[in-house]
Amino acid sequence: MSKLPNIGTSIFTVMSKMAAEHGAINLSQGFPNFPVDEQLTNIVARLAKENVHQYLPMAGYPPLLSNIALLVKNSYRRIILPEIEILVTAGATQAIFTTIQALIQTDDEVIILDPSYDCYEAPVLLCNATAVRVSLNDDYTPNWTTIRKACSANTKMIIINNPHNPTGKILTQSDFEALESLLQQFPDIIVLSDEVYEYITFEEKHISAHTRINLLNRCVMVSSFGKSFHVTGWKVGYLVAPEHLMKEIKKVHQFLVFSVNSICQVAISEYLDMVSVDGIGSLYQTKRDYFRELLKTSRFKLLPCEGTYFQVASYAAISNENDVDFCKRLITEYGVAAIPISSFYENGKDLHLIRFCFAKDNATLEEAAKRLCKI
Ligand code: PMP
Ligand code: GLN
Repeated sequence: MSKLPNIGTSIFTVMSKMAAEHGAINLSQGFPNFPVDEQLTNIVARLAKENVHQYLPMAGYPPLLSNIALLVKNSYRRIILPEIEILVTAGATQAIFTTIQALIQTDDEVIILDPSYDCYEAPVLLCNATAVRVSLNDDYTPNWTTIRKACSANTKMIIINNPHNPTGKILTQSDFEALESLLQQFPDIIVLSDEVYEYITFEEKHISAHTRINLLNRCVMVSSFGKSFHVTGWKVGYLVAPEHLMKEIKKVHQFLVFSVNSICQVAISEYLDMVSVDGIGSLYQTKRDYFRELLKTSRFKLLPCEGTYFQVASYAAISNENDVDFCKRLITEYGVAAIPISSFYENGKDLHLIRFCFAKDNATLEEAAKRLCKI
């Protein structure tokens, strides 16, 4: 009997595979296609010949832990204790999986907002716990009244994703105030804050859970160097948690991966000594604006995009097909791959919306837009 009977292959795998089979431009799975900073690749090339090939300490390479603490301090003025409150993980996916495995018990309930990125539900189900999906409002803001109604004595965790994949929405000050007031009524609820796109916001500044003093003692914050340094394949991320939660999280981490690959940890640590994260938002803002401009004459209607490197578009003026069929036809007939937004909903809600990844070089964006404008 399957432990996850209703979970299939991730839509990102399905669409990337189909894009490759048809030689389509892949704007589906989120990853950059432009070169990684040479400063970073040079570090890796040098390290390959040095003595950095053996296990690192379980929680992470100590200089990397210190550099993450410094990054959090510089970004959010929060002081964290590197050896106690930070864990380096094999990407954000493992951070999220490990946190849920460590903190969620049978029959607990975990609130997941709908639509949502796809890696939250399976780890909840593997704990024999219940994923309670709560719809975001039509404009993708959280509906705190319905979230509050969904909370019960069994609710153990609320997962927030800010900036939000796939919609690019970011949480506001008043969202955090509403969350904090809700938490006052439910002292046992923990917040899992997935902030992998924390440095990719545009007109509005990102508000991190790190800055919310009322959350710090009950929040696990997750980030990914894959997003921040354009190296998604490295699968290096981290989580920050208060000591009492981290104690449990580390128990699981040590038997899931023990320690994350050494070269990438050392390389990222050295790279953090050299660069800042300041330019990441403006890099992607330029790409967002360029992509939107290129699609201006198309029949796609572009939704607002406040952060992440994803642009959601409506094809309602083009076709009545469901979004999965439309995405397949987009690949086979027009040579562009995108992600159907229905795959982010528990019940596959189809609003004739698809997601494009604009983390691409200009030539790719131009060619993709040329094809999309012909539809
Ligand atoms: N959370 C969100 C919202 C994501 O978009 C992603 C993926 N890219 C992840 C988590 C997983 O990140 P990683 O590749 O570091 O595991
Ligand atoms: N986070 C990426 C996206 O949203 C996908 C990563 C993956 O395929 N696991 O496109």
